[in-house]
Amino acid sequence: MKYRDLQIQTQREAPNNARTEGFSFLVRAGYLTRENVPTKLGEHALDHLRKLAKQHNESFFLLLSLSTIGNENEVFFPIASGSIEVAHCPSCKYTERLELARFAKPVGAEHAPPLPIEKVLTPDCDTIESLANFLGIPKEKTAKALMYTRVSDNKFIFVVVRGDMQLSEAKLKEHVGDVRAATAEEIVRAGAAAGYASAIGLKDALIVVDDLIPQSQNLVAGANETGYHLKNTNYGLDYSAEIVADLIQAKVGDACFNCGNPLSVISTNNLATRGEFIFENILLAIAETHHDEKGLTLPHPAAPFDVYLMHVPGKELDTRAKAEEIYSALQNANISVLFDDRDERAGVKFNDADLIGCPIRVTVGEKGLKEGKVEIKNRASTENQLVLLEEIIPFLKK
Ligand SMILES: [Zn+2]
Repeated sequence: MKYRDLQIQTQREAPNNARTEGFSFLVRAGYLTRENVPTKLGEHALDHLRKLAKQHNESFFLLLSLSTIGNENEVFFPIASGSIEVAHCPSCKYTERLELARFAKPVGAEHAPPLPIEKVLTPDCDTIESLANFLGIPKEKTAKALMYTRVSDNKFIFVVVRGDMQLSEAKLKEHVGDVRAATAEEIVRAGAAAGYASAIGLKDALIVVDDLIPQSQNLVAGANETGYHLKNTNYGLDYSAEIVADLIQAKVGDACFNCGNPLSVISTNNLATRGEFIFENILLAIAETHHDEKGLTLPHPAAPFDVYLMHVPGKELDTRAKAEEIYSALQNANISVLFDDRDERAGVKFNDADLIGCPIRVTVGEKGLKEGKVEIKNRASTENQLVLLEEIIPFLKK
């Protein structure tokens, strides 16, 4: 394809909204607009990736030399601007979206014999924080209540997690379906009291507890009466649940469920879900991985064009006509070429070639042509090689 047909617009300056170097170079090289919309060149690059993915489904990310993390369903690329947080174990490589990640929960206190329930006055203790402070106990000795209504049938859902843990709504939804926060009226109707709720004595509620709750004895929970809590509530004795499951959101440093090492939390973009590739994110990942200070340095299979062909306008010889001949010859040899057919100065074209990042640059200049040669340069190296016109294709194919 030709530079002018693709209407390539390169930029000298990084866009001021660039959050990563990869994005910045994709805009500067003319693959994306500042608004993150693919240009003609960008669409061409995406089409190239789509074809490559079809041919090499299994080894696709390896071919692109991308360093990814993932699990059997999803592939992620770590990137500062990424929109998806994942939990990742650097030791065993366990990777999962943060809201669904499993971890080894600290059981905490030793198994203790259950004590009798005791109702206590706890004024202005409608948060776990204020309750633990008021009673002088650690948060892990409290039971936290969260109340929802199921969207499909308006069922009241009462969730219990330990006071030191955070509920993952995504995990809850996996067990009960879509939910919304319960209204004040729905809470009262179920027999609970906001800020002072427990699962004991509720009406028509679906009770869902985290799997740590049955292992935690003598927790302080709400008395379902404003201003009061119950000491020594015990799962199995005082209440039970329809669903006992892992409901907790993992956080950085939690122990990996598989190997016990601390989990990292990483910002990522999703590159593939169940075999469906997300090519816009893949293009950004390629740019993020393969660039230097001058522009993109795309490796052979990832690059939309193998060769950046350019002529330097001459005084005596028609370098452009010779470049046109080479352009046709390369295409006939099945080498993909971007032909910079503008009558621009060499420096302008060299800069653009570096930005756009094709693996090889072929330069047709007057001085070389007089000896029947062109200059060939690898994007990654600083040295030119002079190659005879008739040797170009064998040289590129080797
Ligand atoms: Zn691990």
